[in-house]
Amino acid sequence: MPLFPFDNTYARLPDRFHARLPPTPVAAPRLVRVNAALAAALGLDAEALAGEAGVAVLAGNAVPEGAEPLAQAYAGHQFGGFSPQLGDGRAILLGEIVAPDGKRRDIQLKGSGPTPYSRRGDGRAALGPVLREYIVSEAMHAMGIPTTRSLAAVTTGEPVYRETPLPGAVLTRVAASHLRVGTFQFFAARQDVEALRILADYAIARHYPALRDAPEPCRAFLGAVVEAQARLVAQWMLVGFIHGVMNTDNCTISGETIDYGPCAFMDAYDPATVFSSIDYQGRYAYANQPGIVHWNLTRLAETLLPLLAAESEPAIEIAKAELARFAPAFEGAWHAGLRRKLGLLEAGEGDLALAQDLLERMQASGADFTLTFRALAGAAEGPAGDAAVQALFRDPAAWDGWAARWRARLAQDATAPATRAAAMRAASPAIIPRNHQVEAAIAAAVEREDLGPFEALLDALARPFEDRPGLERYALPPRAEERVLQTFCGT
Ligand code: AMP
Ligand code: MG
Ligand code: MG
Repeated sequence: MPLFPFDNTYARLPDRFHARLPPTPVAAPRLVRVNAALAAALGLDAEALAGEAGVAVLAGNAVPEGAEPLAQAYAGHQFGGFSPQLGDGRAILLGEIVAPDGKRRDIQLKGSGPTPYSRRGDGRAALGPVLREYIVSEAMHAMGIPTTRSLAAVTTGEPVYRETPLPGAVLTRVAASHLRVGTFQFFAARQDVEALRILADYAIARHYPALRDAPEPCRAFLGAVVEAQARLVAQWMLVGFIHGVMNTDNCTISGETIDYGPCAFMDAYDPATVFSSIDYQGRYAYANQPGIVHWNLTRLAETLLPLLAAESEPAIEIAKAELARFAPAFEGAWHAGLRRKLGLLEAGEGDLALAQDLLERMQASGADFTLTFRALAGAAEGPAGDAAVQALFRDPAAWDGWAARWRARLAQDATAPATRAAAMRAASPAIIPRNHQVEAAIAAAVEREDLGPFEALLDALARPFEDRPGLERYALPPRAEERVLQTFCGT
């Protein structure tokens, strides 16, 4: 049986969509981890992947049967400035598989050597960022948030040179596809309408096949991507996730989260939170994310104008109408999510204001985002749970004032306290990949070749909505001396 039952479609697209080349071999591949649960879900043989021949493939030293390795072309707005030529500068798409669930997935090696699209840089990845992407992407999946997945990580036995030499690594990334807003921008920048049409047809067939029969498929496609991205960013906001580099090349057509670089979860709630060391202006701060996704989608709509023109109304009107789906889709998901976090199982008039009031009090009192909502479930079971929430607020009176309003609202909703609390715990994770825990796991792996903390953290994050005995420390925010204030790009 081949390692991957490849069934490739992207490689069939015209030459200007990609550059064909194999990954560049590395000196001494060593397995860090195969994601056995993901392998099983994809119908792959985890043991074969972890064996010598498997590791050679995961490191890029052998091209597996059926692969048609290539680097994808794309463009993108990076921090608002347009680069007409980006592309996979350090990633190789080996091919696609159709998993037992019937869904097509890309199998990509990241950190697999230079490509014709590497403008600068060595085409490699360091172990730290590879582990960060592995941890955070798998945590996002466990929280039910659409995301690329991590199938495996290997070290290369070669240093990568950043400020200092670091151990090199390759991540095997699994994605619904790697089509991005930037893929459309690549062809739009070249006024290659033929390629845009081919790409749109491909994206519709791959991600939104039901829309092939819509009266205006391209219009429906734009609307579908707008809504998928709106729902995605709402899910980020509901768990305090900050992507960090929401450039248009990191904004997928599938609606999956992609490209975990300087991403992080906030501890204390503050809408202005930024971790990325290169985000000087706070462009990608927590609270800016919905607006930035809308901006990115506007760039997508612009690329589609030549295709929308052939249809019923002026193209610009169609684009505007489809972009207008963003606000209701985002607000619908965000408000419903906030309501679940507050334990309001039936919608009521002032619910959003009540949630907003809590968030403002949390901000003023430096309350931990994750712990506050988690502890709120305990308070929903009865006032005995209040002390645990109140302890998270610098100003205890801030909690008292809000709790009275909240309890009055709960009284209008007939749900039994235990049912309510269970629903709240299913909406607010106990364990998120806290920055200090992620950094500690990476430091152990990089500095001491100790993968124990990485494995333990992955295990804790695999069931984020449970309070499991023995894992309490993963739920805790950093102590003052553990706080990580800055994260760095995934290079
Ligand atoms: P990112 O910031 O990871 O989204 O990457 C932006 C662009 O830079 C993409 O075209 C990447 O392929 C490219 N890139 C990032 N890191 C490297 C590297 N080490 N070598 C070559 N290209 C890179
Ligand atoms: Mg890339
Ligand atoms: Mg990227």
